[in-house]
Amino acid sequence: MIMRLFGLYAIYQDQEFELVEHSESRWKIPGDTEYWLLTDNPGAAALGFGEVRPGRYKKRVPPEELSFAFRKDTHATYKGLEFKADPMKDGQVELFVPNTPEMWELFRGREIENYDRSLNIVKIPLAEIEAFTQVWKPLKSWMDYISSKKKLGAAKGRPLHSKGVFMRPWFTTEQLAPDTWVISEYRHWEETHCYLLTGKTRSLLIDTGLGICNILDTVTALTDKHVTAVATHVHWDHIGGHRHFPEFYAHRAELPWLQGSFSRTPEQVREMVLRNCDLPPDFHVENYRVFQGAPARLLEDGDIIDLGGRQVEVFHTPGHSPGHMCFFERARGYLFTGDLIYQGTLFSSYPSTDPAAYLASVERVAALPVNRVFPGHHSLDIQSEILVRIRDAFRSLAARGLLHHGGGQFDYGDFDIWI
Ligand SMILES: [Zn+2]
Repeated sequence: MIMRLFGLYAIYQDQEFELVEHSESRWKIPGDTEYWLLTDNPGAAALGFGEVRPGRYKKRVPPEELSFAFRKDTHATYKGLEFKADPMKDGQVELFVPNTPEMWELFRGREIENYDRSLNIVKIPLAEIEAFTQVWKPLKSWMDYISSKKKLGAAKGRPLHSKGVFMRPWFTTEQLAPDTWVISEYRHWEETHCYLLTGKTRSLLIDTGLGICNILDTVTALTDKHVTAVATHVHWDHIGGHRHFPEFYAHRAELPWLQGSFSRTPEQVREMVLRNCDLPPDFHVENYRVFQGAPARLLEDGDIIDLGGRQVEVFHTPGHSPGHMCFFERARGYLFTGDLIYQGTLFSSYPSTDPAAYLASVERVAALPVNRVFPGHHSLDIQSEILVRIRDAFRSLAARGLLHHGGGQFDYGDFDIWI
């Protein structure tokens, strides 16, 4: 399944790689060998944010040699060379660097903010690029390479849609059961999933997405029942569509965020909204607001949301955020896990996270009789056994005394834990 979208670009042994399939994070040398970038976060990797790490390729590639990629969709010029530059900050180049202590030492202070650092991005003014080539050999190789090519703009990483790959609609809807749907936003690197559950009397929308397009239109096409919204947690990427649902529920611990005390500035959120996203043409980021409002009901651990012949249990699962909740439909063994459980990087590293609480939460959900896990992001091809693996990973980190902020970043194959 070809999903789209940006032409992306990397250099390995003087050869140009091109992203060929967003959904699979597949890279290849044009016309030749394919490399699979096996990363925790296919969407992010495809957009150049993924770590390039040893052992994650079908063919092993030394990470220091294939270590960054540039977006191809904007241009800048420096000393006659054409660069790809960040569209948000003119004159700065985004580098996607290996996530190693040495790199962060080298680029200290160049990360825009913690969020971007977590995605391995640094930004460097064009005027300073040359200085960095002295100390980071791959950058020098790359500079030499593009110098020899003279012009990067002619490189092969054209946006895929220019090759006739059709754009998908903003929301992708898949039916999971006769009365259950997942509504996904694959055109944004977050790859957020929202779940619509319909009972005999009403419907429940678990998470409302990024708020870039109107999810209400999609929801009303699937149900004519009254819809209550509930977020697994009130990070911006899960409450974007809340404004369309006057009746929404939330956990008490996240009320302050709903009242405007979320730690990110509107500018920071807008940058995350825009970042490497295939935006619809009629979207205007200057109008984007992080949702604020008063919930119709405060949920507690153990509460039941009754949809009429269909009951959803509330599990307060703090860790990723103070009021994070998982929703469990016991009759079917469906567990909606938000950002507590998914394939990708699990974050318990922000100040508002709590690694010890995260462990306690995964202990709880791993003990449930779960048939299917429905995550908040990324791959839907996820089995319930991941609950036990994530629990065991957290247990072992606790046993090693690492379960505290700054404990490190730990790779378990299809998921990572950053604490
Ligand atoms: Zn999220």
